[in-house]
Amino acid sequence: MDFDTNCIFCKIANKVIPSTIIYEDEDVLAFLDVNPVTYGHTLVIPKKHYESFLSCPKDVLHKAFDLAQRIGQVQIKQLGAKGVNILTNCFEAAGQSIPHFHIHVIPRYEANDGFKLEMKELKNVNLPVLAAELKESLNK
Ligand code: AMP
Ligand code: ZN
Repeated sequence: MDFDTNCIFCKIANKVIPSTIIYEDEDVLAFLDVNPVTYGHTLVIPKKHYESFLSCPKDVLHKAFDLAQRIGQVQIKQLGAKGVNILTNCFEAAGQSIPHFHIHVIPRYEANDGFKLEMKELKNVNLPVLAAELKESLNK
């Protein structure tokens, strides 16, 4: 399915609803997040509907990440950002609220600038057992 009539990002990609577009070509689109966490917070999407990063075809994925890289570079050069976070949430459990693949490109200015990604350590993991399990599936 290229266009999901219930999807807000499909509507943005097809100009059914307005957004603040900063770049587009035939495959991908970048627009400003309507609820930015920092100044310049941008979303990159494929124009066609793919639910998440996990189901996006590789050629489209490459175009989306290429654009995210360029936007990150511009955020540093043009907005004076000191760093950039790239984030793509896959599925509700990971915080995805809109099921159309998107990459957040979040310019960072300082540690307490509105965006925080907290990584707490998970204790008592048997790393070799876990690695064996993952390797088996990856190499199938
Ligand atoms: P996620 O929670 O990863 O699915 O991110 C969805 C993002 O889309 C949020 O950061 C929202 O602020 C943003 N968003 C939702 N609706 C719009 C819209 N109409 N225009 C621009 N950004 C939007
Ligand atoms: Zn969509």
